[in-house]
Amino acid sequence: MSNEVRSLNEECGVFGVWGAENANYLTYLGLHSLQHRGQEGAGIVANDGQKLRTYRNLGLLTQVFSKPEYLNSLTGNSAIGHVRYSTAGENKIENVQPLLFDFTDSQIALAHNGNLTNAITLKRELEDKGHIFKSSSDSEVLIHLIKISNKKTLKEKMIEALNKIHGGFAYLLLTKDSLMVALDSHGFRPLSIGRLKNGGYVVASETCALDAVGAILVKNVQPGELITISDLGMVVDQWTKKTKLAICSMEFIYFARPDSDILGINVHSARKRMGANLAKEYEVTGDIVVGVPNSSLSAASGYAEESGLPYEMGLIKNQYMGREFIQPTKELREKSVRQKLAAVKGVVCGKRVILVDDSIVRGTTCAYIVQLLRDAGAIEVHLRIASPRFMHPCFYGIDIQEKDELIAAHKSIAEMNQIFGSDSLEFLSEEGLIDAIGLEADAPYSGLDMSYFNGDYPTYLYDYESKK
Ligand code: AMP
Repeated sequence: MSNEVRSLNEECGVFGVWGAENANYLTYLGLHSLQHRGQEGAGIVANDGQKLRTYRNLGLLTQVFSKPEYLNSLTGNSAIGHVRYSTAGENKIENVQPLLFDFTDSQIALAHNGNLTNAITLKRELEDKGHIFKSSSDSEVLIHLIKISNKKTLKEKMIEALNKIHGGFAYLLLTKDSLMVALDSHGFRPLSIGRLKNGGYVVASETCALDAVGAILVKNVQPGELITISDLGMVVDQWTKKTKLAICSMEFIYFARPDSDILGINVHSARKRMGANLAKEYEVTGDIVVGVPNSSLSAASGYAEESGLPYEMGLIKNQYMGREFIQPTKELREKSVRQKLAAVKGVVCGKRVILVDDSIVRGTTCAYIVQLLRDAGAIEVHLRIASPRFMHPCFYGIDIQEKDELIAAHKSIAEMNQIFGSDSLEFLSEEGLIDAIGLEADAPYSGLDMSYFNGDYPTYLYDYESKK
């Protein structure tokens, strides 16, 4: 898919269960609450102690498991699942995860959330040695590295393999004996472990998926951890001691569901504080505060609370629209943005609107919304963005790898204000964002990956170094 056709979107969601009846259904439910993290494809691998079985396809989870027999065939007390949005690799069935590998003596299934920064180099090296890859996604590299390791146990092989890869990764690995969980040395992606009432374990990209299956949070996976869950219980190892937390700030700003807690911080509450800090940072006179549904509603309510202005429903989202990125041309995509959102005339007409959005990426949405509000009779539209200017691409698991795509990388605030047709435009400061998230870290270090805003990448970028 060309960049023209493909829009920016969130990464992937992973979910795993060990030691529970109906692991397939629990995984389905868990994945359902992670659907916002990826809508291109979904799959589940289940383990009955003898054999691993898989079903996966392109589409939303409900489309993939459209017939009961697809899910029913996945028997066993453990399973892993994945919802995919391609960060690397094309949108084709071979890339839909979990990937299941059948070896002569064993089976291994793999689900990956993130993006490796040295996968291209590793893949080339492996191919030169005769390895054949069956997908074009970067996730398969890990399995090849495990397979060439001379170490004895799977855990030792895994540790050796993990030390060869770089970038962002949250991995789930299922064999007939265990569920292995690994997080990169910066903890770029969120990953949590919970327990079910019957004692079974659950692993998920976000805590909202633990809630969905009635699991209680027992642990947020920490950078550099390798966790093995089996019938003997849970064992926590470090695959590396060289760790430094740099969790993705965009998870807090946009990706994660508001009911999730990331490292103990509720996402909705963090977004409210982003909105409140934005109100403190720039004064403006207005009549009402409107958020862009749905991702900006938390920030808008925080803005309204802090400024003392009424929070109003000035925009409505049509929940039944297809996604605009499916449209083949820019013009059609822009039309579908219009279909997706509607201004509430009776609310905004004659009003000075403070419009809060969570972030500006390409800038397409903002320009249309400002126009929508004006067409509905708003007399002023002041755009307030609850995150700093997004100027640098991401190489750790978000599908924004081209600087050209980012409007703030090329235009000043004044120029963007003119392009969007807003009366004023302001962005939350980096300090305001760090304060709003409020991660406990050793100041001045925030514990966050803020590279989108300042270009300060927490790692060397290997295959992507020239792109930053
Ligand atoms: P635009 O500026 O038109 O590209 O759209 C920006 C809006 O898309 C933001 O207000 C977010 O709600 C949402 N958004 C932010 N980051 C992403 C991303 N990586 N992928 C898809 N949508 C995003």
